[in-house]
Amino acid sequence: FAKRQGKNRYVIFNDDLWENFNNHYKKVYEIKSAIENKEFIIHYQPKACIETNKITGLEALVRWNHPTKGIIYPDAFISCAEETGLISQIDITVLEIAAQQLSEWNKQGKKKYNISINISPQFFLSTHFIPTVDRVLKKYVVNPSNLQLEITENIALNDINLSKEVIKELRVRNIKISIDDFGKGYSSMTYIKEFYFNDLKIDKSFIDNIINNKVDQTMIEMIINLSKIRGFEVVAEGVETDEQLAFLRKLGCHKYQGYLLSKPKPIHELCI
Ligand code: C2E
Ligand code: MG
Ligand code: MG
Ligand code: MG
Repeated sequence: FAKRQGKNRYVIFNDDLWENFNNHYKKVYEIKSAIENKEFIIHYQPKACIETNKITGLEALVRWNHPTKGIIYPDAFISCAEETGLISQIDITVLEIAAQQLSEWNKQGKKKYNISINISPQFFLSTHFIPTVDRVLKKYVVNPSNLQLEITENIALNDINLSKEVIKELRVRNIKISIDDFGKGYSSMTYIKEFYFNDLKIDKSFIDNIINNKVDQTMIEMIINLSKIRGFEVVAEGVETDEQLAFLRKLGCHKYQGYLLSKPKPIHELCI
């Protein structure tokens, strides 16, 4: 390879590889310094009971508050953070901010909500996951039952037994667990049967078509019925219209989340 480029040249990378290499390290550097500079912040999105419309909890969604580019949304950096192994550090940052919020409510003696946090499969399956959760809860003196962790079906793609062990550890601590984006993966039904959750969040893609698509309607109904047998509460995600909400109410769905209720916002901008 090097020879083809001419004598006396030892080319390790071609231009593309070099650029990828550069980009990779640039990204790692940028994300690392963003963590250090506390550029990751949380917007909170409420969820509510469908029957009463009372707020039952808030979901913490990470944003990168970039000094020059403004607010950057997770879709633009989560996969990169996963590839570079930095996602756990972002998740820990979010966990710390949420725990701090919970302890602030405690100190103020204010009405408080559960906070849900999205946990990447990488962090969830790492050996430092449970010890880190313990450490943060202790540091901020937070009641574990005020914390809910959202995991996706991807957690168990590699190691079902390990996933079950981790879920068991969380249950022992009284930490709540949601399965997020349910129905998006390939082995969804197994999860209802094999795993224990407090909440099951139906993926927005099913909610989008609920009014017109008979198949999606029936699938949602089926998921709700199975969840009831297992004792899981069902949360519909991405509800945008009153028609969708009315339909979900009719099907016996417990909770909902979506722009109809509220967009994710900084804590002080939420009407709660
Ligand atoms: P998710 O956990 O399923 O969160 C729901 C996403 O849908 C959020 O996007 C939310 O803003 C958006 N959404 C909620 N209601 C509506 C609606 O009615 N209409 C529409 N069009 N969208 C709605 P966001 O905040 O961009 O987050 C995207 C994903 O990034 C999240 O999906 C989650 O998987 C991931 N994520 C967010 N924060 C974290 C985090 O701290 N750690 C990790 N590991 N992943 C995170
Ligand atoms: Mg989520
Ligand atoms: Mg979701
Ligand atoms: Mg989603």
